[in-house]
Amino acid sequence: MKKLFALLENTEGFNIIKREKKSGAVSHAYLVVCADGENLTEILKEFAKLIACKEGAPCGKCRDCTLIDSGAHSDVLVYPKTDSVKTEDIVDLIEQSYIKPIESDKKIFILSHAETMNLPAQNKLLKTLEEPPKNVHLILGATTEYGLLPTVLSRVKKIEIKGFSEEVLIDFLSEECPDLVRLKEAVSCADGTVSGVKRLYEDEKFREIKSLCESIVIDMLSSKQVLHFAEKVMVYKEEIELFLSVLERVLGNLLYITAEQEQLVKNKADINALKRATGFKKGSVLNALELICTARKKLKFNANAQMLVEWLLFGILEGKHKWQKL
Ligand SMILES: [Zn+2]
Repeated sequence: MKKLFALLENTEGFNIIKREKKSGAVSHAYLVVCADGENLTEILKEFAKLIACKEGAPCGKCRDCTLIDSGAHSDVLVYPKTDSVKTEDIVDLIEQSYIKPIESDKKIFILSHAETMNLPAQNKLLKTLEEPPKNVHLILGATTEYGLLPTVLSRVKKIEIKGFSEEVLIDFLSEECPDLVRLKEAVSCADGTVSGVKRLYEDEKFREIKSLCESIVIDMLSSKQVLHFAEKVMVYKEEIELFLSVLERVLGNLLYITAEQEQLVKNKADINALKRATGFKKGSVLNALELICTARKKLKFNANAQMLVEWLLFGILEGKHKWQKL
């Protein structure tokens, strides 16, 4: 995979630390919030390189950079040792923070998946976060702030990595995911993270679900067909959330088309397919999108999947007929 640096170098978060480094005022504790859990530790390493590298912002080639990349830098320690943060990790981190750096003039601690820290572990870390030993920097990373104590949050500088734009993701992943049509489809339905796009790119079911969603919009014309389509959706009952996201994206594109804004549809191949959907007006597409939001809420409250899908499809069709009459 290409270096994540290519994605991060133009983000606001990266620029904030770059500026701090330039003015000699690197903070002693950061919290990087990024939805991409699978790549979180690697993303935090890029931030560590930015702070540690003496050659650039960062250069990616010097001894510091290469040692951090390979996880062998004696002054850059990565936690947790397993896949979630344990109290032992924090005890070890605190002890290590009092040992002077060997290679360089500073010590950097990466604490990935900080959202998995239990309360005692968070409390233990507070003092180090507030007043770390000299030349110590902590880079916490979390997929969400939820679960972190306000006392932890108030002691760190928050850096938010938002979802990347479709253009940036396509450019970044085009080598690794060479089928461009497939990549564009995955990017247009994913959550803006690298791992989210890769998951959809590799997932055969995603493609099937996408063509089913298009078929619902194009071919479901009468209430007699609703049960038939609901049955098809239920083949993917383990992936109802993915189904809702993909249907939402398909309807989002249909909304652009009904509003005569088709230039806003990112994946041009979608336009031709969706132009075959007849009878939708802007109001009925908006209605369908609202129904999807409600469906998500119902799903959270453990609604029966089959009944939910039938309710949703009936609602979409009903809305279509209602707005046709207006
Ligand atoms: Zn370097």
